[in-house]
Amino acid sequence: MPRQLEVIGGAERVSAEFIEHQKKLLELMKDLQIREVTMARETIKSLGKNYLDEATRVTGNRSGRGSASITLKNQVIVAEAMLSLKLLGLEQIDAALDAVLNGKYGDCRKCDIPVEEARLKAQPTALCHVKCESDC
Ligand SMILES: [Zn+2]
Repeated sequence: MPRQLEVIGGAERVSAEFIEHQKKLLELMKDLQIREVTMARETIKSLGKNYLDEATRVTGNRSGRGSASITLKNQVIVAEAMLSLKLLGLEQIDAALDAVLNGKYGDCRKCDIPVEEARLKAQPTALCHVKCESDC
């Protein structure tokens, strides 16, 4: 069958070498993401301490949290949102690594047709085609 026709209806399956490369990449991404989660947690802890210190300074007691600055409150909100994103990223990396271990990496989780290598290169955690992503 001409190569052109094989590609119609879905990409070719990615090679074992490519999957091994992606696995190493995902493991590196996981290490980095774990470090970022730890840093985000430390930031929240430190902001929380500053928040209590500021409240204590303003009111003279630690129950005056409502008096701490809006800026500091917003920093805590942003830091918590960043932590949520990093935890979500970690879940996506773990899901992709699970797919590698189960021999499913590169096959769309929704339609089972191989995902394009270019997409997996651009987004190593992709488990579905772009068109299948909404209910992947
Ligand atoms: Zn699909």
